[in-house]
Amino acid sequence: KGIENIVLQDKIKEVSKIVSGTLHSKGIDLILNIDEIKPISMSLIIGELPQVIINILNNAKDALLENSVKNPWIKVDLLEKEKDVIISIEDNAGGIPEDIICKIFEPYFTTKNQSLGTGLGLYMSYKIINESLGGSLYVENTENGAKFFIKLNKNM
Ligand code: ADP
Ligand code: MG
Repeated sequence: KGIENIVLQDKIKEVSKIVSGTLHSKGIDLILNIDEIKPISMSLIIGELPQVIINILNNAKDALLENSVKNPWIKVDLLEKEKDVIISIEDNAGGIPEDIICKIFEPYFTTKNQSLGTGLGLYMSYKIINESLGGSLYVENTENGAKFFIKLNKNM
């Protein structure tokens, strides 16, 4: 598989641009807080991390629209923790109901109708982050909504 050398901050900006037009047209604010730490260089398999980030951003968008949230936003943050770097993606769509939060990474689990969702997005994302990249993907509900964390080793 093709490997590319990237600067994590630049890759996140590049990926965000792909969805920013759609988000903007729906009135959703995309807030990037990714320049607080020095540039992080990594070698990654082409397309894998972008696929995960786009999946999570699209899920946040779907949840915000489904719940007709007023002043909808999605925040992307980047932080370092010892040898790890953590990308977090948070929304204010109300969060994931407690009875389904343990199922969202399972294949074909979806709460959307067939034309909108396959239920494979987070399953694929989990496989990419945990198996291919050796990191971890997890989620927490916050006061406002859901917050997904992509944790990777900085020395990749
Ligand atoms: P799909 O988007 O095709 O439904 P995913 O695997 O991407 O499949 O997501 C599975 C389910 O997880 C969604 O159907 C939705 O119920 C839930 N989910 C994912 N992200 C969010 C979010 N940000 N807010 C609320 N629910 C979410
Ligand atoms: Mg999805």
